[in-house]
Amino acid sequence: MTNSLVEVRNLQKYFYEQDSLVDRLLRTDPVAVKAVDGLEFEIEQGETLGLVGESGCGKSTTGETVLRLQEATEGEVYFDGSNIYDMNRTELKEFRRRAAIVFQDPFSSLDPRMTIGETVKQPLDVHDWPQDNNHDTSKDEQKTERVKDLLNRVGLSGDQFDRYPHEFSGGQRQRIGIARALALDPDFVVLDEPTSALDVSVQAQILNLLDDLQSEFGLTYLLISHDLSVIRHICDRVAVMYLGEIVEVASSQDIFSDPQHPYTKALLESVPRVTITERERDIKTLSGDVPSPRNPPSGCRFRTRCPSVIPPANSNIEQEAYRELLSIRNRIRSRDIDLSDTQEFLEMDETEDLADRVIETMVTTELTFSEPHRSRVREAIAAALEDDWEEAESLLSEYESICEHVSPALQEGRDHCAACHLVEQPPAVVDAVADSPVSPQDGYE
Ligand code: SF4
Repeated sequence: MTNSLVEVRNLQKYFYEQDSLVDRLLRTDPVAVKAVDGLEFEIEQGETLGLVGESGCGKSTTGETVLRLQEATEGEVYFDGSNIYDMNRTELKEFRRRAAIVFQDPFSSLDPRMTIGETVKQPLDVHDWPQDNNHDTSKDEQKTERVKDLLNRVGLSGDQFDRYPHEFSGGQRQRIGIARALALDPDFVVLDEPTSALDVSVQAQILNLLDDLQSEFGLTYLLISHDLSVIRHICDRVAVMYLGEIVEVASSQDIFSDPQHPYTKALLESVPRVTITERERDIKTLSGDVPSPRNPPSGCRFRTRCPSVIPPANSNIEQEAYRELLSIRNRIRSRDIDLSDTQEFLEMDETEDLADRVIETMVTTELTFSEPHRSRVREAIAAALEDDWEEAESLLSEYESICEHVSPALQEGRDHCAACHLVEQPPAVVDAVADSPVSPQDGYE
């Protein structure tokens, strides 16, 4: 029996473009932007789950759909055993009392015309707190007392009740946002990048405060951040997100000591370390941009940037050369080779020599392709130079990767799992690989 407070099942949030009345009259098909695509995770009572990934990967949309601040396209979110998407008005109001959010930007999330006392008191007014008034004092006096108590607990002072947001620093404003989130004594709080707008010196204070409040009130957190050092500070478990999907889940300790997914490894690589050897460290940052969620890559969504993409069986090609070759192949597929720079050579060179020059301009490293790969790339470029793009594509078709044919998945029931063909995969994925026309090179289990 699980002790989960929050369970997320197949959560999807798509935004649709070209979906206006005019588009429908013109019978234009809507285009789905898959911000969140089939997420599954749970958060235990009293636990902090970190959701980490680059900006634009769908983290904040996940937080908002988990709280039903945005409607999900598909899927279920169970809070304390009840699906929030099946709740009636009364149940939803009670859910809103028990689940809160702290926003990223403490400057825009507070109304400048309201005193901080009014801001923190607002949720109490909306929920008509306290429901039962058995005290001698009026409800309003109790609310004011509650707000002052909250301000004290987040490190401010009840005496500041009548002051306005502009009188506070960024860190203090975030403390006000936290006090407001805790006003109704919630069980669950989504922390959406709670420190990213703050100075580094203030970040640790806010994280320590959140940690203390969790112990004091028995809170359960979903902490959304692009910053692994923030995640490391207070999270029990971590889910790594890439382009709308979770690619790795593990305890915080395992994620930092034994990452399995190439994306997690790359994120960790890019975190600066305070060591005397840091200056010598060769930091491998992620190359390229995150692809568009309008048209995510087939198979593994990370394959266009993956430093470990799996070559086909018997290709006998070095990893770095393989990635360069895939990049050239993708540019041939999208007809994205600018031949204008090479026109000046057309008079003086044979097509094949010209192909060599084009390859040099396209390869981003010092790398030289070994044979027979260099000949194959040269032939493909030569075909493109003669405007025979189909022939160019077919000459490189033997370099298909299993990573572009079969989507990897997270293994169910594991404490540490990663959606990558380089780690053990669920039976359905193994079967799909076996049925695929592409066989992976050694290294795939
Ligand atoms: S499945 Fe392939 S492309 Fe995706 S992360 Fe693993 S090795 Fe890289």
